[in-house]
Amino acid sequence: MKQGIPDTIKLFKFASRSLIFSQSYQVKDFPRISKLLSNQASTVDVKLSFNLEEGRIPCIKGEIKLDAALTCQRCLDEVSIHLQPKFQLAFLQNEQQGETLDASFETILNADEEFSTIEFITDEVLIMIPMTPMHDYECASYQDTQPINQQKCESPFAILKQLKNTTQE
Ligand SMILES: [Zn+2]
Repeated sequence: MKQGIPDTIKLFKFASRSLIFSQSYQVKDFPRISKLLSNQASTVDVKLSFNLEEGRIPCIKGEIKLDAALTCQRCLDEVSIHLQPKFQLAFLQNEQQGETLDASFETILNADEEFSTIEFITDEVLIMIPMTPMHDYECASYQDTQPINQQKCESPFAILKQLKNTTQE
């Protein structure tokens, strides 16, 4: 049975009941993500399913979908990047516990039994946001960017030259 995601994840409790949640949030519901994106009202779809592996290891399988409106580092216009982080986490009490676990699990040691759903989702999204987002086409060619760079470099000298000319006259 599917239901909305509670504000607090209760790891062992949810896992032992094999609960499945899904919910649509907005970018602005995640303070640390909304600082980076300009599409505040955009939808963030989240699906989380909990289960106990080997009858004792709480696991979360999740899928998040969102569009991130970022600033293209080449042309400085907005670029929308579709992010779809998927993860499969196993929460272990010690490393030995994970030895027989399927290799597809990412393991986390010594997690709290309860933690914030928003913070948890935020961490999974943040690692997917590219450091230098760019359009996937040539949004700004070499020729386009050249004059801007030249202007920046040459202007101090241009001013100096002008000053020199006026004092000489
Ligand atoms: Zn661009």
